[in-house]
Amino acid sequence: MLSSRVLILGGAGEAAELGRRLAGDGRFAPVLSLAGRTRAPSLPPIPHRIGGFGGVEGLVRWLSDPGADLLICATHPFAEQMRRHAVEAARRTRIPLLMLERPAWKPEPGDRWTEVADMAAAAEALGALPRRVLLTVGQKDLAPFTAAPHHHYIIRSIERPLAESLPPRVALISARGPFAEEEERALLRQHRIETLITKNSGGDATVAKLAAARALGVSVIMVQRPPTPALDGVEVETATDAAGAMAWLEARHGLASRLRGV
Ligand code: NAP
Repeated sequence: MLSSRVLILGGAGEAAELGRRLAGDGRFAPVLSLAGRTRAPSLPPIPHRIGGFGGVEGLVRWLSDPGADLLICATHPFAEQMRRHAVEAARRTRIPLLMLERPAWKPEPGDRWTEVADMAAAAEALGALPRRVLLTVGQKDLAPFTAAPHHHYIIRSIERPLAESLPPRVALISARGPFAEEEERALLRQHRIETLITKNSGGDATVAKLAAARALGVSVIMVQRPPTPALDGVEVETATDAAGAMAWLEARHGLASRLRGV
């Protein structure tokens, strides 16, 4: 039986975890695709490619050459464009698609969350009085905060943000999770943070900041996720972790051989 060719659109930790599970499994021939935003990504021991496909058209082309039998979209829940492209490409090629998406965080007793729809609403929700803010939204979504220049921002991101996207009063911290609750509390205390702004990314790697904010009474502005893309005629199946994605793959193993007439 032929190996099933699997294209994994990566970006979330679950994609790397799935890659580690697939390494050495002869039933599957996986390729992990990354956008190339992070300079030193941690890669699982499977083949990978880096860089955009050139829009939906490019992804559709890739799915026929080099080719894939199964598509897994394991990008970050906020990678809205890539997720839309995956659904559209699956519709056009009829290749089965799984959206691998970890559950969103939910508020717990003691949390002081304000949930907002997007980054501009997050900047506005800070209000008129100057606040000390920890921003952990990634380097590409900072521009809306230039509209609220009266706050003092501590910006934590993996890659250094571009200077032109920054509000005037900032301190930059470059760090990559996972973070422990104790270090998150120390950070909030050290910078006298009053409000934390985060995307609702979900997952364990960066959840400690929420526990630390709860413990210290720090308010949280939580940017909600964009909805999972949907298209007429495409049944988008979902899994919440790498084990669920593995089960989905195993259920479809053999499909490749049947479709290719082997
Ligand atoms: P995006 O806006 O959804 O995608 C922009 C373009 O980047 C896509 O159209 C595609 O280019 C390319 N791209 C994205 N993911 C790709 C992948 N896995 N393989 C190949 N090309 C990819 O994405 P984004 O928000 O800029 O995020 C970029 C990457 O960082 C994603 O892989 C995402 O999972 C990861 N990430 C994002 C966030 C976030 O908050 N947005 C947080 C952590 C990690 P073409 O159209 O040319 O194919």
